[in-house]
Amino acid sequence: MSDYPVYGRIDGPVVMIGFGSIGQGTLPLIERHFDFDRDQFLVVEPKPEGVEILKARGIAHKQVALTPENYRDELNALFPEGKGFCVNLSVDTSSLDLMKHCREIGVPYIDTVVEPWAGYYFDTADNAARTNYALRQSVRDEKAANPGGTTAVSCCGANPGMVSWFVKAGLMMLAKDTGRDIAAPTNRDGWAALMRDLGVQGVHIAERDTQVRAEAKPHQVFVNTWSVEGFIAEGYQPSEMGWGTFEPWMPANAHRQESGCKAAIWLEQPGADTRVRTWCPTRGPQFGFLVTHNEAISIADYFTVGEGDHPEFRPTCHYAYHPCDDAVLSLHEMFGSGQIQTAHHIFDVDEITDGIDELGVLLYGHAKNALWYGSRLSNEETKELAPDQNATGLQVTSAVLAGMVWALENPNAGIVETDEMDYARCLEVQLPYLGPVEGHYTDWTPLTDRESPFPEDLALDEPWALQNTLVR
Ligand code: NAD
Repeated sequence: MSDYPVYGRIDGPVVMIGFGSIGQGTLPLIERHFDFDRDQFLVVEPKPEGVEILKARGIAHKQVALTPENYRDELNALFPEGKGFCVNLSVDTSSLDLMKHCREIGVPYIDTVVEPWAGYYFDTADNAARTNYALRQSVRDEKAANPGGTTAVSCCGANPGMVSWFVKAGLMMLAKDTGRDIAAPTNRDGWAALMRDLGVQGVHIAERDTQVRAEAKPHQVFVNTWSVEGFIAEGYQPSEMGWGTFEPWMPANAHRQESGCKAAIWLEQPGADTRVRTWCPTRGPQFGFLVTHNEAISIADYFTVGEGDHPEFRPTCHYAYHPCDDAVLSLHEMFGSGQIQTAHHIFDVDEITDGIDELGVLLYGHAKNALWYGSRLSNEETKELAPDQNATGLQVTSAVLAGMVWALENPNAGIVETDEMDYARCLEVQLPYLGPVEGHYTDWTPLTDRESPFPEDLALDEPWALQNTLVR
């Protein structure tokens, strides 16, 4: 890419909240693809790290941590005329509160996760309250209470985010390859019916991160390719998944939800210590961690056919994440010792010697068994495409870019999740940054090569049931 398209003008202040790995990677994409007044760009970030980058680019920095007490005053001061764009890429700030306030003052908003204020994940013993279901439902309740109005895009990173667009692209590929010559559905009912009619039983968000560096993981250092803090927080939340209508069995420690869309269940165990069997193109069959994620619930909810507690069709949907090998070792060390490492390290783009982040959706249970559809972005290619980030980062930041473009083009869409956005337009913006985006079919199922000298209680007539995928 050399001629970068400029997708529109942002009038007024552009405020980025949080300047960690994702903020630093998003900044050059905003600079590249939007017309805005540089003296109106400001980064809110409590830590001093990264200030040099901002100084060098002539961008203002306000060193403050947003809190429940100060966020209204801070946002009012930052957006005095009720226009501009608020890009929230921080941890420990309430996405719901920031989004609500931005909409009240007429400022478009985007984030990559439903983040709570600091303390939420660890300060309560009430596991149901610590689920992503509860966090997401709070945003859905706000959408229902205040429909329409200024656009606020919720959860628009790689996952949650881009993977919701991949589900639709994958369904269109599957439709074509199974002889259905159809136009893309235009609403939620149409998409849900298409998934049901194609025989898709469920979706793994199947990710394999093979990025490595030369140095071995040091003892008691948590190493990852993106926010260590973010990964530990979600890894200690209860394991959670969208719960499909085909599932014949539920784990004994599973809980249903009592209110809201009721599309998900959660388990009395941490997601980063819960393994499932899954499949990605490069390494084939593998274990992934069933870490809770917003998209597991939003996709199951969006593709539901029918209403109430017993819908006609709903897919199972969950994350099946094999992080980089050093992160797997870091989890092993953390859960084994019972101690969260205080030293953290995020792979810098230049220290990575090899590897890709293979992030896609595995649509399973249909006539062609399973289709993995996703991005296979290498770190080497990332260096050519955009500065200041590794492959994992670019899959996230380019989704933020696509979400911002969509928000500018749809300024009064209210609160939206990525399932509710135009997947084709968003992928059009994002594709130049994703490396190879491909669909791969596989014959593998969780019952393949399953012979074992040890007894297993398997669902032999439902290969893709959680009974078979969950490592018990
Ligand atoms: P990071 O830890 O590198 O950066 C987060 C930044 O937020 C830090 O610089 C921190 O100082 C700042 N911050 C902390 N408290 C703050 C406060 N009170 N007010 C303002 N800023 C504050 O994390 P990251 O890797 O850049 O990730 C940022 C966010 O993006 C996280 O919420 C993460 O979960 C999310 N994320 C989403 C996806 C996705 O695909 N959807 C992928 C990666 C990260």
